[in-house]
Amino acid sequence: MKKPKKILIIGNWKMNLNVSQASLLVSRLDKHIKTRKGIEVVLAPSMLDLQPVSMQVDRRKFRLAAQNAYHHDEGAFTGEVSFTMLRELAHYVIIGHSERRIYFKEDLDEIRDKVSACMRNGITPILCIGETKTERRAGETRQVLHDQLMTALSNLTAEEVSEMVIAYEPVWAISTFEGDIAKPDEIGKDLTFIRDQVKELYGVQTEEKVRIIYGGSVDDHSARAYLEIPGCEGVLVGGASINYHKFAGIAEAAYRVVKENAEEKE
Ligand code: PEP
Repeated sequence: MKKPKKILIIGNWKMNLNVSQASLLVSRLDKHIKTRKGIEVVLAPSMLDLQPVSMQVDRRKFRLAAQNAYHHDEGAFTGEVSFTMLRELAHYVIIGHSERRIYFKEDLDEIRDKVSACMRNGITPILCIGETKTERRAGETRQVLHDQLMTALSNLTAEEVSEMVIAYEPVWAISTFEGDIAKPDEIGKDLTFIRDQVKELYGVQTEEKVRIIYGGSVDDHSARAYLEIPGCEGVLVGGASINYHKFAGIAEAAYRVVKENAEEKE
């Protein structure tokens, strides 16, 4: 029988927390999040916090992600940090987050190069894709997801694609909380579309292995509903991830889903 995949809970701290605040959050998360079978918890601190967090964190309980890196391995690129430099610190790197696409003008080619550099350095990419509100209203969601996905994966083998994490993050639903939240029944078909695209291009084995998760204003109250969407294998959490109470609540919600799925199979 196929081993079920672990549910992935990723906390993107964005540009928040100085070194001492990060350390405090790690201690609180360590206290409030239990090591649970069937879930994997990943923390993505700022580049500055990553190194001290890596010394502090219990690596059996948490994996680490960087929020970005530059696609060249080394050289005269003042101010940048490469995937090569991150190799010993981070298991994952977030690539193509909409905030980088929008504020830092990262285009499809740059994101493709980052995904390749990530793979070349033995780090697992967490590739974020998603449409804006205007694109959704214009009925362009599928085209946008297709273009973002196909360009980003274009230099990869099927085996490499199977190791990736793809996060569907509709731009209109990120950090809105009180506002325009994506309803779980609204986005199920988009997650399925992404999965079908992977299947069509890289085959069923790749599609079965690749992890596809959701991100957009997920908190401790909504996590469960997203994790119950068929084919949703985790959540990428921004705002709620720097609140230890909320993030621990999300991890508990994931564990309850794992337990219930296991009981149903018995
Ligand atoms: C994110 O940063 O990827 C994200 C989903 O943010 P938020 O949870 O705040 O919407």
